[in-house]
Amino acid sequence: MSDGTLPPYDPQAIEASRQGDWRERDAFRTPEIAVEASRKYIKPSAPFTSGNIHIGHVRSYSIGDAYARFCRARGEDVLFAFGFDSFGLPAELGAIAGGVSPSDWVARCAEHMIGQLKRLGFSFDWERTFMSSDANMYRWSQWLFLTLLDAGLVYRGTGTVDWCDTCQTTLATIQVENGECWRCHRPVRLIQRPQWYLRISAYVAENDRRLEDLAGGGIWDENALASQRFVIGRVDGLELDLVGDDGEALRVFTPHTDAIGLARFVAVSPRHPQVEVWAQDEVWASELEDLRSGGLERSSREAQTMPLVQTGRTLASPTGGEPLPVIVTPTVDGRFGATAVLGIPERDRTDALIAERLLAPQRVFGSMPDSASPAEPDENGAAPPLPAGARTAVRYRANDFTISRQRSWGTPIPIVYCETCGTVPLPREQLPVLLPLDLKPTGEGNPLAEREDFVGAICPNCGGAARRETDTLDCHFDALWLWVPVCVPPSERERTLEEILALDDLRAWLPSERVVAGSDSGNFVFDQRTVTKALRDIGPLAFLADGEPFAGCLFHEMVIADGRKMSKHLGNVVDPDELVAAHGADTVRLAVLYAAAPQRSLNWSDSAVQRCRRFLRQLWDYSHVHFAGEAEPSPDSPNGVPGAQAGTETMGPDKTEHLRKRLEQWCDTAVEKITEDLIELEMHSAVRNMMRLFDRIKDYEKRVLAKRGSLCAEDREALLAALALLARVLVPFAPHIAEQLLIAAADGGEIDTAWPDAQLVSR
Ligand SMILES: [Zn+2]
Ligand SMILES: [Zn+2]
Repeated sequence: MSDGTLPPYDPQAIEASRQGDWRERDAFRTPEIAVEASRKYIKPSAPFTSGNIHIGHVRSYSIGDAYARFCRARGEDVLFAFGFDSFGLPAELGAIAGGVSPSDWVARCAEHMIGQLKRLGFSFDWERTFMSSDANMYRWSQWLFLTLLDAGLVYRGTGTVDWCDTCQTTLATIQVENGECWRCHRPVRLIQRPQWYLRISAYVAENDRRLEDLAGGGIWDENALASQRFVIGRVDGLELDLVGDDGEALRVFTPHTDAIGLARFVAVSPRHPQVEVWAQDEVWASELEDLRSGGLERSSREAQTMPLVQTGRTLASPTGGEPLPVIVTPTVDGRFGATAVLGIPERDRTDALIAERLLAPQRVFGSMPDSASPAEPDENGAAPPLPAGARTAVRYRANDFTISRQRSWGTPIPIVYCETCGTVPLPREQLPVLLPLDLKPTGEGNPLAEREDFVGAICPNCGGAARRETDTLDCHFDALWLWVPVCVPPSERERTLEEILALDDLRAWLPSERVVAGSDSGNFVFDQRTVTKALRDIGPLAFLADGEPFAGCLFHEMVIADGRKMSKHLGNVVDPDELVAAHGADTVRLAVLYAAAPQRSLNWSDSAVQRCRRFLRQLWDYSHVHFAGEAEPSPDSPNGVPGAQAGTETMGPDKTEHLRKRLEQWCDTAVEKITEDLIELEMHSAVRNMMRLFDRIKDYEKRVLAKRGSLCAEDREALLAALALLARVLVPFAPHIAEQLLIAAADGGEIDTAWPDAQLVSR
């Protein structure tokens, strides 16, 4: 620049200009499937239509976007798109608060959130975005429901379910947090009602077995694997059949294989099928009914206060000691699933607390052994021989869960109830069963059940009058397929689902190379792994032989503030819009990547923002000074640039050759490290390596100047090459400023955005 002024770093202007260019070029459109190309479907999380992008989303999408841009720069075909999880209670409650219909509410929310995400410059293929509450999308849920119903993987049962009085709805187990409703944080209680269930238990053992392969594959991070182990809840032990006083046997389990002789009682889950049979007995049926269908609050599921029912039955001791009393208690479920277990007070704290209660003076059992006189294993600790018939066994805490809710904002279940034919699934040609869009829920009951135009139906079997199912599907059911539709171009989405699942595009993109999501997504991913195996066995996803939808998985931790979860109540919420307005998207994105490794909680502080802002500004200014050729001119410049005879002793370029060589080496090392970091999704480390490279470039210049007082043409060329290289590796992290720097470096020429190859740099 002839007048000596340099363009100031103006993130708002730069980012608007780059984003305009991306829009014009349709830069992030998913490429056509090419036979030769290497392909990556990078799956971001599907956001709820909550209305606002929060800083946790920024973290998640900054990681995924950096990886997507990196893969594109390496010449790979990338699919990076998502659908909104727009059904469910949060949207319904938002609509109630806003006094609008849920469909209007989610449309507004999605529009606003897309605007926020675009402002942040994420490279999603927006054309493939969808809403799970659109009819051509929720028919996926209806089709899947019918398909799993045919296969016996969806079933109707009457069971004990968690019920929130405040929200007037049943909850999936995973929606109950510490005995409280995930939504309103009020205590939840157990009630009985007819429900639709998803039989995940059919695939728990396979999902467990497959973990070893996923771990061996190397691109499932330890957080993600741990989440799967946690959801599965595997317990190893042995099982044996004990004969009851009535001659009937009950299969019992224990993880304490060396302490069977210490068993004092048998504890049975209220969900155990045998309890159904016992409940016929009128002597204690009412007590059992109380336990199973009411009164029991999740928050009191402590062993001290947990209601337990003494059935009056006993089972023969496996080691020939006193008979074991049988009790029914929900404390079994959380530890071993819906099963029956030996109570061994010496080995298990919960069992010890239960035994204390059983031994209280008012106890009903005369046969309860005194803990002072048990038949113990010998003092040397040698395990006693196992009782006859005992065999190794595994129990899983993961259990079938309910997928129906008594709410109106959800996928209608394609079932009618006919007086003649009973429960009748609708034929697939009748899908989708449309949800009335003008519903205005009030927060109580289920408005869908009050709509005669919805409820009235014709039985597809006999043609008679029938009533529609008015329960809707939980949005956890939608989540089973939310990862699939982006794999087909929107123009193909009107086809039948059988056709869609057979499309070459879909087959080419699956399995997804990597999920990048919050560490609270373990259940979603587990359920998606389950349904993939089901559809593999049923047929449509048979091409995924191992039944895994995701080849790799990264679970990042949350963003917190002052060591606590962000919440409006605590007043510690960080607003991404405000940050972007103050610092620009590049700084905010870089800061969330820089501040912590993905596997660690990010404790928010402004210092990361300040640090990254300073880095980008300095890089901008420094680069422009040198791009503009305003560095000290070279003394041996051939064209007599002013200043060439500034009195410095003329030296040949070879005097600084070792410094240029070292700069090249630094560049090489940096590219190598940053490439490795990106492959491992260690974004915090990549950002640090970039900052280090910048320091070294400045250091190089300082040393050259110390050596000869100015940069010769070769020195300057090396410096500019290093700066251009830095801009290229910065693209995945701070794409706007990085591209603008590349444009400035190219000075009107083509810009090179291909990922640099470390080997080529030093040659
Ligand atoms: Zn609630
Ligand atoms: Zn009928």
